Amino acid sequence: MNPENNNQPKRQPNRPAGPNRQGPQRQRAPGKAGEIRNLSRGAAIRAQKQSVQDANRVANQYLAAPTEQPALPRRANLIDDSPRLKITGLGGFNEGGAKNMMVIEYQNDAIVIDCGNDLGVDLPGINYGIADTTYLDQIKNKLKAFVITHGHLDHMGALPHILPKYNVPVYGSRFTIGRVEEIFQNFGLPMPDGFELKTVIMNEDTHERLKIGEFFVELVRVTHSIPGSTSVVVDTPIGRVVNTGDFRLDPNPLDHERTNVERLKELGKEGVLLLMSESTSSDRPGRTPSESTIEQSIIDIMQGAEGRIFVAMFSTNVNRVQMVVNAAVHHGRKIALDGRSLVSTLEMAVRNGFMKIPKGTVVPIGSVASMQNQQVVVVCTGSQGEPNSALQRMSQGEHRHVKLEAMDTVILSSNPIPYTGNDVLVRAMVDEFLKKGVHVFRHESREVDHCGPLHVSGHASMEEYGEMMDMLKPKFFLPIYGDFTAKKYHIDVAVEHGIPRKNTLNTLNGQTVSLTKTTMELDGEVPHGTVLVDQTGSIVSTVVIKDRVLLAEEGMVAVVLTIDKKTGQLLTSPDIISRGFIYMKENEELMNAFRAELRRAVVQRFKRVDLDRFKAELRDYVTHFLYEQTQRSPIVIPVVNVIGGRAEKGNNDMHRTNGDATTQANGQPKSPEDIALEQQRRFAQMRQRLLNQDARVD
Ligand SMILES: [Zn+2]
Repeated sequence: MNPENNNQPKRQPNRPAGPNRQGPQRQRAPGKAGEIRNLSRGAAIRAQKQSVQDANRVANQYLAAPTEQPALPRRANLIDDSPRLKITGLGGFNEGGAKNMMVIEYQNDAIVIDCGNDLGVDLPGINYGIADTTYLDQIKNKLKAFVITHGHLDHMGALPHILPKYNVPVYGSRFTIGRVEEIFQNFGLPMPDGFELKTVIMNEDTHERLKIGEFFVELVRVTHSIPGSTSVVVDTPIGRVVNTGDFRLDPNPLDHERTNVERLKELGKEGVLLLMSESTSSDRPGRTPSESTIEQSIIDIMQGAEGRIFVAMFSTNVNRVQMVVNAAVHHGRKIALDGRSLVSTLEMAVRNGFMKIPKGTVVPIGSVASMQNQQVVVVCTGSQGEPNSALQRMSQGEHRHVKLEAMDTVILSSNPIPYTGNDVLVRAMVDEFLKKGVHVFRHESREVDHCGPLHVSGHASMEEYGEMMDMLKPKFFLPIYGDFTAKKYHIDVAVEHGIPRKNTLNTLNGQTVSLTKTTMELDGEVPHGTVLVDQTGSIVSTVVIKDRVLLAEEGMVAVVLTIDKKTGQLLTSPDIISRGFIYMKENEELMNAFRAELRRAVVQRFKRVDLDRFKAELRDYVTHFLYEQTQRSPIVIPVVNVIGGRAEKGNNDMHRTNGDATTQANGQPKSPEDIALEQQRRFAQMRQRLLNQDARVD
């Protein structure tokens, strides 16, 4: 079926359905021009309004949310002498631990913990979201540092966008700072003049405490799915605050670097005013199994594999890559690495001493094709079924060096991220593998695949969340890094572990929590929201997004009229461009009727009203006509070129010509027909440029 002529386009998930799609009229095929004229102009306008509202609703999720009280811009030299600690989540308090970012303030000092991005934004052309930093601008003079808990993008991926505005140092463990430097190196966009990345590496094992403004900051090692993960301990003038970062309490992690429970217990004995604990899996009972459980599974699969072995996983899971390298060496196989992010992170890890690869173990991916099958292990990205990942390209025969074939073995060492649709992508990818006769081992289907566990979560389960509370014995508890539901379950765990419910809060992005030694309460709201970043790394206006959503849902129709100013007659046949609306070649009847309608509109209205009014009327008229014929409300762009008279120039900016378009080279005035032809030619050129691009015209 031609998508341009599909009367019932597949609606993208999460998009609200406009009522104009649901009426019985929707079943009619477009293109029966003049057949049905029973719809009121009001219905057409209502339908279009509805489409616009739908687009607004989608885009507005990403606008800065309105604050309850208008945030007054503060004067830079304003002295804040209230003896309260203020904690404000600018991200990570509404969504499932995305764009995590919180501000901790005491009087005239502030630090930001984490500065992540949100890769879960599903809008046309959008790469990810980052937190709105209007509030940081307001307290710019107080801001002393960013402290990063660990090197996952949802905790540090927004730094290249946000840090240059404030130009303060970034604190973190050695590995985390390595990741920060890595994303700045790979960012691709120029940094503003005068910006210099300043970093401070803190040792997460020695209880080193650094003074930042009025705060003392310490990092404590925790186990997660990336090396160098830490909890952040902030000693403030009113008491100790702990942000756990992402963690689990694995007694036997692959790198043997356990969460420093001894130090956490010590901190608890000394007294903790507030615990802020991550909430990712606060509804998963029991304990998260040890990462070491997957080591034997990988060894077993390698033992039995006859052909090449491909292991796909997240690029930052350095310890797991190390484990696969060890297993490969044990079985006398060489390792090839593929995937840009994987190679970049592993290079950084090797440079900083976080990975040890025996000499001669790694071979270039380009040499895999010439090696014996039993000699090869490929570690690559693509475990989530991401289009264009190394694994996808290998499966589709689009990879430069490697093509998956029968008897190859693929191990997917991750679970599809929930609520993302990745499970569908993974399933489709596995389909392709199995069609080719590739052996596939997945964690979800390990019983039928006859293998051991291939993945464990990097996050704690309920018992471990409780244990963290028991170790730190906080007076107050604030669940962080999760949506409302996850945080609610986490509060229930806290209550079971003896923290009074009145000493807990389930706060949302933008809400400020105010703390004294004896109280914790909500204290107003600051501007917050999500700023959208496109594929090039540039910020995209939500106005553009609204247009994209409308275009995606309804398509676009441009009509180009060239009219003689004196006579009010059309000089050429109306030019109609349709993108994503209907396929014009298959709807000739409709297009002919449409042209006739346009001619009639010109004759009836052009001489009677001014040009702006004519264009507005034309837009309404066309909207009405198209809705009547097709029950759709595409974006309508009227372009009217008026030729002739004294001040002849194109009335549309697109057509304004350099110099005087109305005279020929010999100084003779051009005839209206010549000018019209010229305009048509220019327009044809412009259209060609548009058609060469994506249908999104902005
Ligand atoms: Zn993480």
